[in-house]
Amino acid sequence: MQKTALITGGGQGIGRALALRFAQDGYAVSLVDRDKEAGLEVIRHIRQYGGNAMFMCIDVADEEAVGRWMQLTHEDMGRVDVLINNAGIMANGSMLELPVSEFDRVIAVNLRGTFVCSQQAARIMKSLGKGSIINIASTRALMSEPDTEAYSASKGGILSLTHAMAVSLGGYGIRVNAISPGWIETADWQYSPRAKKPEHSERDMLQHPVGRVGVPYDIADACLFLASDQTGFITGQNLVIDGGMTVKMIYEE
Ligand code: NDP
Repeated sequence: MQKTALITGGGQGIGRALALRFAQDGYAVSLVDRDKEAGLEVIRHIRQYGGNAMFMCIDVADEEAVGRWMQLTHEDMGRVDVLINNAGIMANGSMLELPVSEFDRVIAVNLRGTFVCSQQAARIMKSLGKGSIINIASTRALMSEPDTEAYSASKGGILSLTHAMAVSLGGYGIRVNAISPGWIETADWQYSPRAKKPEHSERDMLQHPVGRVGVPYDIADACLFLASDQTGFITGQNLVIDGGMTVKMIYEE
């Protein structure tokens, strides 16, 4: 039976690249996104090339809706092999002024949403005796710019949740890992009427030891690797994918 990958926030950006890459690799793909048009565009594209894809427009912070997604995917596609918790949001604004409700919303989507989706997917994976959960964190879990408390805290929480779930679920054959992307350019991976050509200065590129900004396939290819049986001995880890940006020292002159 065809392997199935479940992807949150699969309509745009990194999630769109994840959906296309896993479909190209032969997976059936089940996506959710809160942007309906974006999600439908992705599954139309996958089906046009003969792939098997389904989409539901839900909010990953809604536990009941996540339950319906898991159940429908299991019924329609027969199995749940891989879950990628990719949907994420930021809150903008000064730390001193940020409404606490906005802090709560970021935690509800990024951290609680990751737990809810993982819990429900793991119940199905347990019956198969196998599975791979990949949580998309961020280099902002490890370092910060001003006024990013909610986002950074949610991503730091995802790293802790990753090693905790890896320990809890290891006995069921389920591996749990995180990927922390650095700067990944997604302007050209949005719903097509909103997509834009990316523009980067030389300075943008040179702050990366590899000499360029990241692209969504940098993350999607690493997810394919972590989903594969080749990585059966890797669990509870955080893979930083940032072109070396976080290991580069910065000296201001
Ligand atoms: P995008 O905003 O380009 O795409 C995210 C998609 O997820 C959007 O379609 C968005 O819908 C959807 N979404 C947001 N919230 C929810 C929700 N509650 N339920 C369902 N769908 C939702 O994001 P990126 O591709 O840039 O980021 C993907 C992940 O990677 C995020 O977790 C982000 O934090 C992480 N990341 C990204 C980096 C980057 O440089 N791009 C760097 C480090 C980490 P809508 O447009 O309506 O909000």
